[in-house]
Amino acid sequence: MQFKNTLEFAAGLDENDGLKNFRDQFYIPLINGKESIYFTGNSLGLQPKTTQDYVLNELEDWANFGVEGHFHARKPWMPYHEIFPQQLSKIIGALPEEIVVMNQLTVNLHLLMVSFYRPTKQRYKIICEAKAFPSDQYAMESQVKYHGLKYEEAVIEVSPREGEHALQTEDILSAIQQHADSVALVLFGGVNYYTGQFFDIKKITEAAHAVGAIAGFDLAHAAGNVKLELHDWEADFACWCSYKYLNSGPGGVSGIYIHQKHIADSSLPRFAGWWGHTKDSRFKMEKGFEPIPTAEGWQLSNAPILSMAAHKASLDIFDEAGIDNLVAKGKLLSDYLFFILDEINAGSAKKLIEVITPRNAHEKGYQVSMLMLEKGKEVFDALKQHGVLADWREPNVIRVAPVPLYNTFTDVFTFGQIVKTILNK
Ligand SMILES: *Cc1c(COP(=O)(O)O)cnc(C)c1O
Repeated sequence: MQFKNTLEFAAGLDENDGLKNFRDQFYIPLINGKESIYFTGNSLGLQPKTTQDYVLNELEDWANFGVEGHFHARKPWMPYHEIFPQQLSKIIGALPEEIVVMNQLTVNLHLLMVSFYRPTKQRYKIICEAKAFPSDQYAMESQVKYHGLKYEEAVIEVSPREGEHALQTEDILSAIQQHADSVALVLFGGVNYYTGQFFDIKKITEAAHAVGAIAGFDLAHAAGNVKLELHDWEADFACWCSYKYLNSGPGGVSGIYIHQKHIADSSLPRFAGWWGHTKDSRFKMEKGFEPIPTAEGWQLSNAPILSMAAHKASLDIFDEAGIDNLVAKGKLLSDYLFFILDEINAGSAKKLIEVITPRNAHEKGYQVSMLMLEKGKEVFDALKQHGVLADWREPNVIRVAPVPLYNTFTDVFTFGQIVKTILNK
């Protein structure tokens, strides 16, 4: 598409946007009494207007039924988590039995590493992206220490080439090759939180399997953002949070995926709890853990219903909008943002902004990370004053995420005008 940097053009894109009505289903925070340009849906997605009802229904059922709500609530609590896998299977690209919603993201990453990071004397390394999200780094660090290994020896980080910001897939693959005999686990983000780079999950998985390693992914920035086919790509495991791209509320419940080939393997070590025990005999309260032969077998505790109600409200909207439509609009929004930022650079004697997110459609979602070569903090502070919520990462990166469910092309245009004005001052 031939873009134009005009309000008229942006408004035209909004007019023809098949998803334009979804914005009305969300509360848009106000700044100085005006609707903000909310570009931080990659940090905390906005609240659907339906969420309150979903949560209130559960509070009402609790008031009305007490413990009987486990069976008599409108959505009975006992099997509550079973309402998610069907909907999430479209977002994750997996079979319903490969998915369960439980716990929080970092907790789940640890639980999955208990099952899938089983270092031996020979095979003990984890290969990951440099600058992984800190919680993932701490999880890896503490896991290798837990196994009596040294972080520096066990964790191999793949870094971008000199002068580059994104990773080259071939460098990831060759790192796996290089440690072919000693790598136990290849653990990557689906989309890197800092650069917005969407990694080639299929190729990384193939390379890991070719050397006899497991491939796992943290999809915190990928779930709901990019098109995923986890099952077909044969990824071994993955986990994600629901409060960023999936709009399910602060601290919202997490989800995990485990490939079909592993789910019924009761020999896999795991940290078990009663909710993972086979349903027929769970309430016999007897000794001897027998895991449910699906991803549900990794559950520990009974489900956090209030948090799950918020998740359900959001997933119903995803269903209505369709993940393919959302991914397509997200890419168009970020393409338009790339174009606007190019225009700002082109209109200046020297480059002002370096976009560190890859441009290729298959290497990005809708987050765009801007390395500010001039006046970074000044631009960031001014954005807030002008009603734009963006995200600042040291030393000088501004991350923005125009969200297909509730942001507009006009938001992107207006954002560009503000940035340009400040940089040209
Ligand atoms: C947001 C994020 C987290 C946060 O973990 P929580 O356990 O949900 O607090 C972890 N990893 C990645 C990659 C993230 O983007």
